[in-house]
Amino acid sequence: MASTIFEKTSSERKGYTLPDNDVNVKLENCIPSEFCRKEDIHLPEVSELDVMRHFLELAHTNYCIEKGFYPLGSCTMKYNPKINETLVRNDSFNNIHPLQDENTVQGALEILHDLQESLAEISGFEKVTLQPVAGAHGEFTGLKVIKAYHDLNNNPHKNMIILPDSAHGTNPASVVLAGFEVVEIKSNEKGLVDVEDLRAHVDENTAGFMLTNPNTLGLFETQVEEIAEIVHSVDGLVYMDGANFNAILGIVKPGEMGFDIMHFNLHKTFATPHGGGGPGSGPIGVRKDLVQFLPTPMVTKKGNKYFMDYGNVNTSLGKVHSFFGNFAVNLRAYIYIKMLGTKGLRRVSENAVINANYIQKKLENYYYVPYKNQYCMHEFVASGVWQKEKYGIRTLDIAKRILDKGYHAPTIYFPLIVPEAMMIEPTETESKETLDDFINAMIEIAKECEENPDLLKNAPLNTPVRRVDDTLAVRQLNVKFEW
Ligand SMILES: *Cc1c(COP(=O)(O)O)cnc(C)c1O
Repeated sequence: MASTIFEKTSSERKGYTLPDNDVNVKLENCIPSEFCRKEDIHLPEVSELDVMRHFLELAHTNYCIEKGFYPLGSCTMKYNPKINETLVRNDSFNNIHPLQDENTVQGALEILHDLQESLAEISGFEKVTLQPVAGAHGEFTGLKVIKAYHDLNNNPHKNMIILPDSAHGTNPASVVLAGFEVVEIKSNEKGLVDVEDLRAHVDENTAGFMLTNPNTLGLFETQVEEIAEIVHSVDGLVYMDGANFNAILGIVKPGEMGFDIMHFNLHKTFATPHGGGGPGSGPIGVRKDLVQFLPTPMVTKKGNKYFMDYGNVNTSLGKVHSFFGNFAVNLRAYIYIKMLGTKGLRRVSENAVINANYIQKKLENYYYVPYKNQYCMHEFVASGVWQKEKYGIRTLDIAKRILDKGYHAPTIYFPLIVPEAMMIEPTETESKETLDDFINAMIEIAKECEENPDLLKNAPLNTPVRRVDDTLAVRQLNVKFEW
């Protein structure tokens, strides 16, 4: 690894110019002595140019979508148009405050209102709240809506939420946080919900069922109507995890499929950079009779005026976040939707789906693809079991070797029901050339497994940091640089 800024230090060098100190106060008189530093702080002493080079080098060392292909399944690492970044930094948005008088922020309220309406239109739900700030937060809010619904109907015994075994880890976590218990059901041999197993687990304690569609195997759940009928027959609610919404935009509406509640991951589907884990936005949409439970305030329009509506005080969950959610992420989603329009959104999904099918088809002779006799949606799951059985190479080794080829690795070991899983999501923003290069790299790796397995076991070889011991890092976390 390149030398750090600490190692470049040389006394006498500096990168700042400060005026002489003209404040005649002794520090010891202001700060109790036990809090005063006893020895020199040892900050690096470097020139301005050295500092510039240091930070630029760090920025270049970091991997990001602007640097290369990022097929991290389920995360939808698409290219986020830079016009979003320019517009959200505009002073008119940047310098407003959520406590400002409504009359002075009519434009911002109009944007939030329009976004609520657009998302409701795209998803087929009655109303959408923009308050939750992550997909997982949307799940939590949606589950609290389910709870409020059953409480209002005098059904507090309904405490079970059913999940398929392919569910994302946030689903069971949200279920528990919202005060429910998890019931897990099996997927069938096609990778879809086993409807008979669902039927066998539904009873009077069923509060709801959570389903991702397309599911985490990248497959479209074709039996949602039947599933909804089964869950509704015991007055349970059907929740859609909308993290994979970018596969069906403008093609089908979850609200018309039989779902009662859904969350959106605006940072995934509607383009906000989210590699570092946030900030995000996880609005939820609900069917008509559930609107009364949504968090307040909602942005409402009366005549030509927009205002914050704190109505439904008796039934609303209240607030799930300070103010009105993550305004800047919501604004990016708004710009993205406005730029693409109805046709553009549909093309996003069509291209995301065709890109994933292209890679799946090209790789299926080199890696085991468990559900290959059907089209995938915007992503697919391959497996490293052939490589493991024949050459003792794990999917982890393959993922590390992918880094050597200059790509971010796919999601690995998820979903849990596919051993040695590699979940590949190309997104719609990649060109055929990029997909071809990636496919070739994956084929090369498959050949390396056969011819030079040690290469894979030692990978990565050309990254700034070689293979780290994650287990040790968790047990003995040390983030302090000593010099
Ligand atoms: C990303 C994801 C989530 C969680 O969303 P966050 O915005 O990361 O909290 C839930 N379910 C699925 C299927 C996901 O891919």
